[in-house]
Amino acid sequence: MVAYTPMIQQYLKIKANYQDAFLFFRLGDFYEMFFEDAVNASQELEITLTSRDGGGQERIPMCGVPYHSAPNYIEQLVTKGYKVAICEQTEDPKQAKGVVKREVVQLITPGTVMEGKGLQDKENNYIASITDFDAQYGLTLCDLTTGENLTALCSSFDELLSELYSVGAKEVVISSDFPEGLKKQIVDRCGATLSYQTELTNDESHAHLLKHLHDERLTKTFTRLITYIQRTQKRSLDHLQPVKVYYLSDTMKIDLFSKRNLELTETIRSKGKKGSLLWLLDETKTAMGGRLLKQWVDKPLVDRSMIEARLAMVETFIANYFEREDLRELLKEVYDLERLSGRVAFGNVNARDLMQLKKSLMQVPQIDALCKSLEKQSELLTKLDPCEELTNLLEESIIEHPPLSIKDGNIIKDGYNTQLDQYRDASRNGKTWIAQLEQQERQKTGIKSLKIGYNKIFGYFIEVTRANLHLLQEGTYERKQTLSNAERFITPELKEKETLILEAEEKIVELEYQLFVEIREKVKEYIPRLQNLAKQLSQLDVLQCFATVSETRHYCKPEFSTKNALHIMDGRHPVVEKVMDSQEYVANHCTFGENRSMLLITGPNMSGKSTYMRQIALTAILAQIGCYVPASKAVLPIFDQIFTRIGAADDLISGQSTFMVEMLEAKNAIANATSQSLILFDEIGRGTSTYDGMALAQAIIEYIHEYIGAKTLFSTHYHELTVLENELTSLQNIHVKAIEENGRVVFLHKIEEGAADKSYGIHVAELADLPSPLIQRAKEILTKLEKEKQQTDEAHSQPIVREETIGDSQLSLFPAERTKKSTTTKQVSKKEQTVIDWLKTLDLLEMTPLDAMNELYQLQRKVKS
Ligand code: ADP
Repeated sequence: MVAYTPMIQQYLKIKANYQDAFLFFRLGDFYEMFFEDAVNASQELEITLTSRDGGGQERIPMCGVPYHSAPNYIEQLVTKGYKVAICEQTEDPKQAKGVVKREVVQLITPGTVMEGKGLQDKENNYIASITDFDAQYGLTLCDLTTGENLTALCSSFDELLSELYSVGAKEVVISSDFPEGLKKQIVDRCGATLSYQTELTNDESHAHLLKHLHDERLTKTFTRLITYIQRTQKRSLDHLQPVKVYYLSDTMKIDLFSKRNLELTETIRSKGKKGSLLWLLDETKTAMGGRLLKQWVDKPLVDRSMIEARLAMVETFIANYFEREDLRELLKEVYDLERLSGRVAFGNVNARDLMQLKKSLMQVPQIDALCKSLEKQSELLTKLDPCEELTNLLEESIIEHPPLSIKDGNIIKDGYNTQLDQYRDASRNGKTWIAQLEQQERQKTGIKSLKIGYNKIFGYFIEVTRANLHLLQEGTYERKQTLSNAERFITPELKEKETLILEAEEKIVELEYQLFVEIREKVKEYIPRLQNLAKQLSQLDVLQCFATVSETRHYCKPEFSTKNALHIMDGRHPVVEKVMDSQEYVANHCTFGENRSMLLITGPNMSGKSTYMRQIALTAILAQIGCYVPASKAVLPIFDQIFTRIGAADDLISGQSTFMVEMLEAKNAIANATSQSLILFDEIGRGTSTYDGMALAQAIIEYIHEYIGAKTLFSTHYHELTVLENELTSLQNIHVKAIEENGRVVFLHKIEEGAADKSYGIHVAELADLPSPLIQRAKEILTKLEKEKQQTDEAHSQPIVREETIGDSQLSLFPAERTKKSTTTKQVSKKEQTVIDWLKTLDLLEMTPLDAMNELYQLQRKVKS
């Protein structure tokens, strides 16, 4: 047994309850960390690791941060996903007998931070809790900064993951017996920190939050969350709003992969907002509007009347340009009422915040009047509550430019509190009296340079230069301090006044703080009204934002088809179009209807296939969040779900192979899509060998065609698949047009009916500036291979055909393997023969064009060497 000192024993006892957190242990003016915490923190925070004697044989590793700069260090740790337990001294060290009492006053975690750079203005900071009910999952979300509480029941773990990912939950609270495998997925896929709360307490203090909950499972899940928050935060949570139940079926389902692929709120590469749909749309003027916009983008609606209500408001804002511009100006002055309410409840609001609150509230009557003046009224334009009494209270009580600190006075206006006015009078009179005394003393002594000053150590003093000392009357002045060329004195009457002034000033500071806290408590009573106002204002902000984007980018108002048809004229990809800037984006049409539910897109690489597919999905999403769309005309169905398998979003994190992810995404679509869904499959089957891949691609197309009927865009480089148009009644070929000019390929990015007729791989290689002899050789080989293929095809009367039924009958999907023997002549050198043999071993159909290029390059080098 190591005989640690009592303080280290105390540390270890506290630390035992906070194993997964850094324990910031208060020691005087520092927070110290010991043992493993110290080693880890010194690395994470780049601070010096020292050690101290703790009673044992070995010295204990230790590092520390000054308490006044602790917030900065805490923020660094929490942003990295760690938790920090703040352990304070809870008794005055002077009074303490033995070791000073200490306890943890707050656990700061990624999901519970209330301030700092880790919080983004335009993003919610959710902490979630999950409970597992036989493959269904209760999910609750709380944004402690805004007080919002949400809950939903997820019918599968995938659905749950997708929700956690899209809301960007920073921390997930689970019980200790939650399955290990699932925990790992939560951390890997969503990057969330895990926390545990197994015991649930049914505390009366949060009963009012449960009033809308009628499902035991959701109540249990929320109770887990609130128990955890109460246990860790140990402070007022008065701003928390009653939990709102939401149903995933009320919004368009977009799974985790598809959200990522479509780059709705962040881009695949940089994981940043720039370049995403959210980035394009964000013309909001308030932080609250920014957060609501993200929520809307994450959850497009499926209820037609709700979508149309939003669209109608956007139309009104487009038609009323001047009102919209005025509204934007007014909204600029509106502060983050939601987060402010949170800080009021948490008790960390300052007087400047309250001034901003007043300023925000003062905009409300004008915003309300402006909304009433709009030509068309709507149910989305509800009367705004200006919280007039609160505005008046703040107007009467707090000065216009208060300091940041709430403990040093200078906050409260004159006239607000009689007692304060009296103290201020005393202090001000005292100061006038001192100014008069200075005059009198100058006259009495005849010393013009005599002055009365003040410093913190000696208080008020009379200062006389050395040369004038002889003019002072003996015995009246008491010497207090000697300077190099002057002496400082006090007199009994100056001391008496000083006491009065200082007492008054002390009382002023004390009283101002007390009054400020009282005002803050009064503001607390308005929190539900402020939260309600915040909701209305953020909605207005998002709707004006849609109108602004739609007008500047020339979008059109979508209509919704009752016949499940889709018809987009001159559609564009909203983000690519914006990024291209001055270059012309080529607009394209898209039509789905009866006998046309699947489009098979062929065309060279880089011609615009996936851009086209994404633009259809983004158009649907924009329409269903209530925004106009990038087209000259758009008639759309209301999609219940969107599935995508696009591009090379290799799933390195989860350690699965690209092909496995490709198949998982395909499975997800096939298992869940309905005839009301949209599926985008880009180059499915590419990740495996040619025959395998092509067979899978065809089978997937056939399956969707036969059993699902979802609107599907399927791009492929397997030209062989285009014959399916003859077999499948609802499938049509389209292609991206490219032309050859002077032997080079030019992509027109124009979508046309029918299949593409050529593979342009070599031309793309040419564009990539591969050496011209290599390109020349590739062209020769291609011609040769094409000739060979033609001969083989002629030899085998069966081209690529689809068997009517996939049953017992022999599958004859592909032509038989090429059997033709290469001929060699006697003139061939040994070196050439090696190359020929090498060439024969190549399985071209298994190679990408680039692999082929590389091989060719090697072969050529061999022959030339
Ligand atoms: P593919 O899927 O056929 O390989 P992409 O869709 O990735 O091709 O498009 C390649 C590039 O072509 C895009 O990055 C974009 O810059 C450009 N592009 C695509 N579609 C268009 C268009 N309609 N108009 C203009 N440029 C486009």
